[in-house]
Amino acid sequence: MNQKQLKEDLKKLFKSMDFVSNKFLHDKTIGEKELQIYSNIYQQLGLAWEFLGLQCKHHEGYKKTREKKEACMMCGKIKGVEESYYLLPKKGIKKLGRRLKPNSRKTFKNKNEATLVNDTIDFHGAFVNVDVHNSYKSKLLDKEINIADERIVSLKESGVECSVDQHMIHIKMDKSKKSPGKKVYGGFPWEIKRQHLKNFPVIFDFDENYQFLGLSILR
Ligand SMILES: [Zn+2]
Repeated sequence: MNQKQLKEDLKKLFKSMDFVSNKFLHDKTIGEKELQIYSNIYQQLGLAWEFLGLQCKHHEGYKKTREKKEACMMCGKIKGVEESYYLLPKKGIKKLGRRLKPNSRKTFKNKNEATLVNDTIDFHGAFVNVDVHNSYKSKLLDKEINIADERIVSLKESGVECSVDQHMIHIKMDKSKKSPGKKVYGGFPWEIKRQHLKNFPVIFDFDENYQFLGLSILR
C-alpha cells in the first residue's frame, strides 16, 4: 500500500477515534445504552487501526510513549509487539511468512524450544503445514534419541497427504477407501515381484537416459 495514502488514512482514522472518545466516551451525561454503542464503534475503529497498521512499514521512525515504549510515528504501533492479524490481498499471490530453514547446530532440550515455525493454513479446502525445527532430544520408549533438524512441508488434499523435506518426498494414500492390512512394508521397485508390482498404479517419468523425472499415481 502507498505509504503516503496510508498516512492520510491513519490520520483520518485517529481523528475519528479521538472524536468518538472525546465527544461520547468521556461524556458523563450519556446513557448506558448509548455509551455501549459508542464504545463498540470505538472498538471497530480500533480494528481498522490494526489492519491499517499491518500495512505500515514504520519508515518514519519511532517516538517514546509515556510508558517508555517506542511507538511508530505513523501508525502508533509499539515496536517489537507481535501482530495479531494477517492481512492478505484477495487477488494475486498471498504471501504469509518467509522461508525458514533450520538455523542452529545445537540440539535443543525439546521440540518446543527447537521449533522455528509450525503453522497450518486451510487454503480453499487444502491443508498446508510448514514445520521447521532444529535438532532436539526426544524420548522414545524410555530411550532418549536425537531428532534431526528438518523443514517439512505437507499438503493434505482429499485424503491424500504429500510431504516434502530435505531428504524425501512421501505420499500417503487415502486410507478411508480401502481396508489396509496391519503391516506396512517398503521397497524399491526392483525388490518387488512383478506380480505384486502390478498392484501399484504408479507411472514413472524418465528421459532417454533413464533419468528419473517424476511419477504419477492413478487413484
Ligand atoms: Zn508504523
